[in-house]
Amino acid sequence: MEQRLLQVALDTPLHTVFDYRWKASSPDEPLPAIGQLVVVPFGRREAVGVVVGQDAQTDLQADKIKDVIAVRHQLPPMSAHWLALCGFAADYYQRPLGEVMLPGLPKNLRALTTVALDKALKALGRLAPATKAKPRSRKKAAVAATVEEAIVDPVMADPSPDPLQLGAAPPLNPSQQQAVDAIAGAEGFAPLLLYGVTGSGKTEVYLQAAAAILRRAAEQASSSGSPEPGQSTPAPAQILVLVPEINLTPQLEGNIRARFPHLNVVALHSGLAEGERARNWLAAHLGQAHIVLGTRLAILSSLPSLKLIVIDEEHDPSYKQQEGLRYSARDLAVWRAHQLGIPVVLGSATPSLETWQHAQAGRYRRLELRQRAALQAVLPSVKVIDMERDKPVDGLTSTLIAAVRKRLEQGEQSLLFLNRRGYAPVLACDACGWISNCMRCDAFMVVHRPERRLRCHHCSLELHIPRACPTCGNVDLQPLGRGTQRVEEGLHGIFPEARILRIDADSTRLKGSAQSAFDSVHRGEVDILIGTQMVAKGHDFKKLTLVGVLNPDTALFSHDYRASERLFAQLMQVAGRAGRAGLSADGSSGEVLIQTRYPHHPLYQAVIRHDYDGFAGELLDERRQAHFPPFMYQALLRAEGRELEIAMGFLKDAASLLDAPAITINEPIPMTMMRVANVERAQLLIECPSRPTLQAFLKEWLALLRQMKTRARWSLEVDPVDI
Ligand code: ADP
Ligand code: ZN
Ligand code: ZN
Repeated sequence: MEQRLLQVALDTPLHTVFDYRWKASSPDEPLPAIGQLVVVPFGRREAVGVVVGQDAQTDLQADKIKDVIAVRHQLPPMSAHWLALCGFAADYYQRPLGEVMLPGLPKNLRALTTVALDKALKALGRLAPATKAKPRSRKKAAVAATVEEAIVDPVMADPSPDPLQLGAAPPLNPSQQQAVDAIAGAEGFAPLLLYGVTGSGKTEVYLQAAAAILRRAAEQASSSGSPEPGQSTPAPAQILVLVPEINLTPQLEGNIRARFPHLNVVALHSGLAEGERARNWLAAHLGQAHIVLGTRLAILSSLPSLKLIVIDEEHDPSYKQQEGLRYSARDLAVWRAHQLGIPVVLGSATPSLETWQHAQAGRYRRLELRQRAALQAVLPSVKVIDMERDKPVDGLTSTLIAAVRKRLEQGEQSLLFLNRRGYAPVLACDACGWISNCMRCDAFMVVHRPERRLRCHHCSLELHIPRACPTCGNVDLQPLGRGTQRVEEGLHGIFPEARILRIDADSTRLKGSAQSAFDSVHRGEVDILIGTQMVAKGHDFKKLTLVGVLNPDTALFSHDYRASERLFAQLMQVAGRAGRAGLSADGSSGEVLIQTRYPHHPLYQAVIRHDYDGFAGELLDERRQAHFPPFMYQALLRAEGRELEIAMGFLKDAASLLDAPAITINEPIPMTMMRVANVERAQLLIECPSRPTLQAFLKEWLALLRQMKTRARWSLEVDPVDI
């Protein structure tokens, strides 16, 4: 019987691929292709891996090489494009190949039994291409038989006359039309920045560009003849739409489904149940799904006919994965589009400075939507309220209270934005000076009044709120400062007749509760909405005409050089929720009131003018002068240990391992929040104005780092965002 050597990528921290021997189980079992999933023995367990090579030289002695246990012949192999994407990501982010390829696969597909896999395939009505290999046991034969019986083709079975028959769409305005034409007419790789103010109708541009591309692909497919008999028709084109957080933008999914009622639209995000995620992933991999709507992890999904990538709110920090493979889904999307020679649309009212700089330099084409799309809708008027003059009570100035009252009287909604959950950030004792420090972190325990708990938001430690001061016994402990729970409490006092709803991570812990909260706002069952950044994103609340921003000042003085970029984007986003559907009952536009102690700060002044261009230009000048990204490329080595010395010692050794002329290796420093969950943390920043030079350095440096003996746990982040 034929036998060959295969190289297999496995999900392990080891920076290598592994050799296995494959033996045909019957004379006609085909050699597993590159990209095929296989089950192999690994250590004392079995693991699913991806075949990445055939017949390479091996250093192992023949008797040390283990046999492949099973080949997932039911699944078509991963495409060469997908393998190249994973190869690039592994290389660029300096992680093992298997760690890029495997964690993104749904658990059911990685399961060791074929039962889960076959169940998912069966649910899709498809088993492709059927295995010719003789089943190795009777049990497996039985499973295969039931699956074979279930083979039907849903695309063929659905006799819909024109699958591209669309739901109702509004006529585009001229700038939207230009944008759609530019996207749909792009040839080859085309990175396009869709720079559109909040409410300018970017969604409509995505939908109509998608429709145009799907239609063209369908025409090309039908003119090039019908598929082989017995074979199912894959989607002529696939479109990937990425959103920051799906449960925060349920509207978009609804809009897509309504627009393309006859197409297969699937979601891919971590909130799905395992079975559904496996089905959706398979639909994408088998080419059945026309539109995939997903969060950052979807960028690593297999999409054999991908023709367009859309990244909505491309500036959003959640496109960056903050653990394990610390990738930027946005950057990988641009790479993927480049590799496939397709357009990628980056949509935002406040593009990231990286993207903006690309557009300024002419590398990305800029498409602009300068006006709001809905009839009579204009950008809201933004004002600052000087909190030194108008002292807040319960966190609200009299000006803001009056504005909310007016909206209540007009039957319109108000949104109050405070990016701090909980009741109060600290509990304190006036008598002795005790404050609620977390015993495990350099952080305060936050007061959560309804839950009667002190909670650390960094290590999740929970304690009962003490009845008396732990040091002096004083029973009169004071919450200091104000979170969303406390504002909510104050609001009930000020507006006893109003319907008030709080939306934050605490109020939406239960699955589906965020969705139902947003639904009730849409149905007009809420007068005043108070929330964190969860409410700032993407929502199109038609009756919302007032936005109040409660306490944004702290971000003005952050040590993080990206803080002002983020605050600006956040304020523009939340301001963008006001007055989207047209004018108020009194004929005015939407209104935004920002409570601040620094009313003249240039950041707020730029928000008042809706001046993203000007503000971004200033920030870019600062970054250029300070040699910060995007004019500098960075990597951050983080280390942690029981004692700071362990982490710092490791970083000091690391810093002196390798010298390179063009590379700046900074001094190791303790992190700003040094201790979290009883672990002490430090970091070392590496900088270089050339990306390829930095990449070459990292490769060499990491090979040395991996050989170092240390008690520190460490990780490297390329293009770090929090430093
Ligand atoms: P953005 O994503 O740019 O913030 P949306 O896509 O949510 O904006 O659109 C804002 C509102 O404008 C939505 O209610 C949408 O239905 C409406 N809209 C979009 N395009 C048009 C159009 N061409 N004519 C009328 N209304 C439109
Ligand atoms: Zn005390
Ligand atoms: Zn803690």
